[in-house]
Amino acid sequence: MPRFYCPDARFVLHEKCVLPEKARHHAGRVLRMKAGDTAVLFDGRGLEASGPIAFEGKDAFIVVGDVHRSTTESPLRMRLVQALVSPEKTDWIIEKAVEAGVSEIVLVPAARSVTKLSGERIQKRLAKCADIAAGAAEQCGRAVVPAVRFMAFDEALKLEDEARFLLAPGAAEPPKLTGLSSCTFAVGPEGGFDEAEIAAADAAGWQCVLLGPRVLRTETAGLVFAALAGAASGDLAFI
Ligand code: SAM
Repeated sequence: MPRFYCPDARFVLHEKCVLPEKARHHAGRVLRMKAGDTAVLFDGRGLEASGPIAFEGKDAFIVVGDVHRSTTESPLRMRLVQALVSPEKTDWIIEKAVEAGVSEIVLVPAARSVTKLSGERIQKRLAKCADIAAGAAEQCGRAVVPAVRFMAFDEALKLEDEARFLLAPGAAEPPKLTGLSSCTFAVGPEGGFDEAEIAAADAAGWQCVLLGPRVLRTETAGLVFAALAGAASGDLAFI
């Protein structure tokens, strides 16, 4: 069933809901939907609506036949603090984090981040990341589009949560993931977090944790953590 992100929509039963331009183009030109085909709209905040699509002049809309809260969210609220890496890797990390159920992504420049971002380029990058998050949510069946933010590493250390984990291959202990309803986890750049960053996280009350005996690439580590934490909270079903 085609799904379309409608960030400004208000879904009211039996009323029209007009698709934004990008969604209209996708429905009409790319998917070649016909009047009467069922479309699902989601508002990025957890609500979904469905109904038959109609085209009228330049507009496309559905008449809302059903509104419900999405059931595809993880029971665990996860916030990923990702050290800046190349744009290609960041795009991949965001897409996979959304699929894995992460609810917020914070990009931070780390001491060993090779990629640097400043000024206008931060806003441009964030806009691209927001598009990727929306596309991933659309594709994987989420009605929530995770926010992507940018902040200094020191600011990110002040973020509060039930549990805060800094992933470090040199750590001694694995994370305790059972019984959590929310957590924040930080992943370093290709060269890892430096000693000062690890010490600062420790001083700020974060737990430095090990994900296993192998050193994972930065783009693998966050995904593995999200899958493990999601599984521990009952998000993933095992047969
Ligand atoms: N030599 C670097 C170091 O020791 O940190 C390797 C960095 S690794 C390629 C990139 C990031 O992935 C790390 O900063 C860490 O956050 C995460 N990571 C990779 N493997 C990990 C593991 N086995 N345990 C915990 N974190 C890991």
